[in-house]
Amino acid sequence: MSLVPFEEKVWLSSPTMHGDELRYVTEAYETNWMSTVGENINEIERLVAAKVDCGNAVALATGTSALHLAMKLVGVKPGDEVLCTDMTFSATVNPVAYEGGIPVFVDSEYETWNMDPVALEKAFELHPSAKVVVLAHLYGTPAKLDEIRAICDAHGAYIVEDAAESFGASYKGVQTGRFGDTGVISFNGNKIITGSAGGMLLTQSEADAKRARKWSTQSRENAPWYQHEELGYNYRMSNVIAGVIRGQLPYLEEHIAQKRAIYERYKEGFKDLPVSMNPFDSEASVPNYWLSCLLIDSDAMAPHVRGEQEPLYKSEPGKSSPTEILDAIATLNAEGRPIWKPMHMQPIFRMNPFVTREGDGRCLTNAYIAGGSVGQDGKPLDVGSDIFQRGLCLPSDNKMTPQQQDVIIEAVKRCFA
Ligand SMILES: *Cc1c(COP(=O)(O)O)cnc(C)c1O
Repeated sequence: MSLVPFEEKVWLSSPTMHGDELRYVTEAYETNWMSTVGENINEIERLVAAKVDCGNAVALATGTSALHLAMKLVGVKPGDEVLCTDMTFSATVNPVAYEGGIPVFVDSEYETWNMDPVALEKAFELHPSAKVVVLAHLYGTPAKLDEIRAICDAHGAYIVEDAAESFGASYKGVQTGRFGDTGVISFNGNKIITGSAGGMLLTQSEADAKRARKWSTQSRENAPWYQHEELGYNYRMSNVIAGVIRGQLPYLEEHIAQKRAIYERYKEGFKDLPVSMNPFDSEASVPNYWLSCLLIDSDAMAPHVRGEQEPLYKSEPGKSSPTEILDAIATLNAEGRPIWKPMHMQPIFRMNPFVTREGDGRCLTNAYIAGGSVGQDGKPLDVGSDIFQRGLCLPSDNKMTPQQQDVIIEAVKRCFA
């Protein structure tokens, strides 16, 4: 097989429009409903609440603004310690800090790459005042929800469920976004369905939905003039954006099926390589397969280090590294990406507590300085930095053809030659 670069770039995950989107946007335009009020907003709130079976959905400007209002709903206050998924996009945890809370990072597990229930239990022991857990479902794979819910109930803690990446994924037949006291989804341009932007707050509490809706529209009181008793935000979704999402919603299952086929094609293609795909619990959960990821076996890792800004690697026969593979993918005019760099390794959060199974993982300053994951004994310091060190996200765009995917698979194979 010749590895000729693709004429058109193959993206990690890009928007896929179907036609209905334009119809709803045009309808908004022609009737002058070009604001943060309108039928598209009402309709997508109804459709999403029905899909997730959560009772109430509040359409907001972004997933991040939904997470911010979620922190307010569960009552995060300045100085509060909040137990957070460590290996995730920064938008999961930034809203904790918006409210003055202190993110305490909880290490990941190898079975779903999400928050480790054992480390979470440890985190409650070390930080007994914590009353909120922020839980993300990475790359569309549900976390160990039963275990995490049981631990949170035992400690009387709320769950804010960041289902931004996992819309449409389910755990024991229940949609993600419904498990938390407050749930969040995102319609950002690279998510499984998109409005170009947008997000939603999901809640079974009608009172919470009302409060979030009020805060999102500048917290106006019921008076003839602009009367304010609370801090307000301009976080409501536009009816134009909602039109795009309204057109996209019927294609959620189709996109999931396409992403699943991509995941399975990679899995089959890599079966003779010393790698594995991002795992999930096939008994309990159905992921939405948003991104296909690959993890290189520890003993098949070629030398690979990451500084603050630049990676460095060496090729070795039979071995490879994420940067070597990402370079090979980029050479094909395709887009891959490193795994989300864990929050405890981020300079901005270097002073925050971090809890692993073994105990408090903080003071491992080499994890921060070198961006690496091994201690002096050569063993990984924590699960998150190990997955970051050995993993990568593969091109997962649902418009990628099987032929293109085969070329990508071949390029990855040659990295291990
Ligand atoms: C995309 C994403 C968000 C933020 O959503 P936006 O709509 O982009 O603000 C939050 N958390 C995770 C895990 C995400 O991937």
